[in-house]
Amino acid sequence: MIDISGITRIAAVIGDPVRHSRSPQIHNAAFRHLGLDWVYLALPVSAGRGAAAVAAMRTLGIDGLSVTMPHKADVAAAVDRRTPAVEALGACNCVYRDGDVLVGDNTDGLGFIRSLEAEAGFSLDGATIAVVGAGGAARSIIDAAARNGAARVLVINRTPAGAERAAAIHPSVSVAEVTDLAAADIIVNATSVGMAGGPAPDQLPFPAEFIQPHHLVADIVYQPERTPLLVEAEARGAATIGGLGMLVHQAAVAFEHWTGQPAPIEVMLDAVRRS
Ligand code: NAP
Repeated sequence: MIDISGITRIAAVIGDPVRHSRSPQIHNAAFRHLGLDWVYLALPVSAGRGAAAVAAMRTLGIDGLSVTMPHKADVAAAVDRRTPAVEALGACNCVYRDGDVLVGDNTDGLGFIRSLEAEAGFSLDGATIAVVGAGGAARSIIDAAARNGAARVLVINRTPAGAERAAAIHPSVSVAEVTDLAAADIIVNATSVGMAGGPAPDQLPFPAEFIQPHHLVADIVYQPERTPLLVEAEARGAATIGGLGMLVHQAAVAFEHWTGQPAPIEVMLDAVRRS
């Protein structure tokens, strides 16, 4: 157990709501495991106060910030420097210091890619990836896939305008239909379909008949850990990967920005499973 003292460093997540966040459990377990004199808190910050929270980070000497709804765009605009992911997405989920400069990053997409490599031994290099969904999480994955070696990125979304907006992120991204899934090496559900407590907890984001044994099927929904899509994909002989890995690996990228140390992935995964 770390004793909090006058030199303990502070990281926090801001959002509204934020009390349900699992990030404090994930990061505090990692700090404890490595014996780092850091603490991670959840701070409720109301809509429209994201830029003020960045200013407070400077004033209070907070060293790391995670950013969730509804502040991702406001914080992207308020930081001193933006990574290419934030430039492409206009959304920031992590702020770290480079000297006196506050840098905004978006770690979701890279977290997803790292989880593919760590949990499925899958590299996007030269692959065709189909992303179902075009919201914030989908766009992070689309951007990271396009910049990390994917040959083609297909976007399928319920609302065509969303898919078109996502396709504008990079030249290798195009709008597709479910019938195009056959050409994909990996299919990602980045909608909220299948999420417990969400709008369609028992449904699939696309008809199961489009899943083939050559597919790797990834679901970024992590509650439940085995979603209806993953159960169906397994039954059809496809390899599968759940969303907890992305949750932990996006936190790991932030942790590494803040502390400069490799994140203890297994400890973080264990913490999120227990939370
Ligand atoms: P978002 O911005 O609200 O986007 C929601 C997406 O889901 C949109 O593409 C929307 O399509 C689609 N959708 C919602 N209901 C649908 C339905 N009934 N049928 C078909 N499509 C539907 O949400 P988000 O922030 O991207 O999050 C999406 C999911 O990813 C959530 O379940 C979230 O928990 C999960 N997530 C996981 C991680 C992780 O680390 N594992 C990280 C972030 C998010 P329209 O455009 O047509 O509305």
